[in-house]
Amino acid sequence: METKLLSDSAGDLLIAAELLKNGNVVGIPTETVYGLAADARDPDAVRRVFMAKGRPADNPLIVHIAEISQLEEVASWVPELAYMLAKQFWPGPLTLILPKRDDIPAITSGGLDTVGIRMPSHPVARALIQMAGVPLAAPSANLSGYPSPTKASHVLRDMQGKIAAIVDGGSCEVGVESTVISIETENSVRILRPGYVTKEMLEEIVPNVALDPAILHQLQEGQAVRSPGMKYRHYSPKAHVVLVEGEWEAFAAMVEAQNSMGNAVYALVFDGEEHKTTVPCLTYGANAQEEAQQIFSKLRELDDIGACLVYVRAPKPEGVGLAVYNRLIRAAGFEVIQV
Ligand code: AMP
Ligand code: MG
Repeated sequence: METKLLSDSAGDLLIAAELLKNGNVVGIPTETVYGLAADARDPDAVRRVFMAKGRPADNPLIVHIAEISQLEEVASWVPELAYMLAKQFWPGPLTLILPKRDDIPAITSGGLDTVGIRMPSHPVARALIQMAGVPLAAPSANLSGYPSPTKASHVLRDMQGKIAAIVDGGSCEVGVESTVISIETENSVRILRPGYVTKEMLEEIVPNVALDPAILHQLQEGQAVRSPGMKYRHYSPKAHVVLVEGEWEAFAAMVEAQNSMGNAVYALVFDGEEHKTTVPCLTYGANAQEEAQQIFSKLRELDDIGACLVYVRAPKPEGVGLAVYNRLIRAAGFEVIQV
């Protein structure tokens, strides 16, 4: 299959919407990361998404809508709290887990009777949902397990020849996937995956916000998962990634010692630190927002430059930094060291 490269012009969006209506898979920009979109109600189209990504069948997709009023086209029951959260955070990077309607096929929800729903803020994503006239199921547009794509070129690298088209909408502003929450009672929610919408932001609307333990800790064998995506190794480049907690001086001493032993050692550090060591470095920002925006792109770049072993400065696991930390411990296969 030849993968068409489309721009975000009105004419190209019409082509993309037509492809989506006809059961094809299209890579689309959203404010979080690029998505691999298909008609959420068409099991054959959704099957093509799983095949292109090589995604395990029990890992559900998020369904994207363009208006709050479409919630009831996807969910069979929408509690008052869901509307309150939608009004506050949509359009934007928050996914609500709700009971699914029967016309959302099991393949879309990974066999679960619930479905993740979100209204993206990216104008191209919303225009495409409206023009296609159907809710769009879209996981991140990377090969399963690899870092998520935040540029059209990343999607092309992973999906060329596997999907009908890619719409280039520039770099993603947020850079990490949406915050996923389940609604537990009328005044409590649980964060299953941290994102740009933080615990503190949710607490302004909901009195009780719990963090699922799997966000920061590796699941033990046989332990129940609340969100299937949490059990898979994720976001990993080919390079061996080690997450390092501690102060700069100790970090620098450790990577310099490793570097003197060879092995294509690289360090992924915060802006400004790259001048303070002789070890080859990439930087990924000066605050949690910038780190979120850049992390996936920098993990991919490390593979492009042939890094074998990468030591990464750990962000503080709070606010938006929790989302970055959560992606990095998985990229590192939970190999975290303290210096
Ligand atoms: P991705 O599409 O790559 O951003 O991954 C979507 C993630 O959302 C999945 O890996 C799940 O962890 C989570 N998710 C989607 N739907 C559900 C659901 N019904 N229940 C729990 N988690 C879900
Ligand atoms: Mg993903």
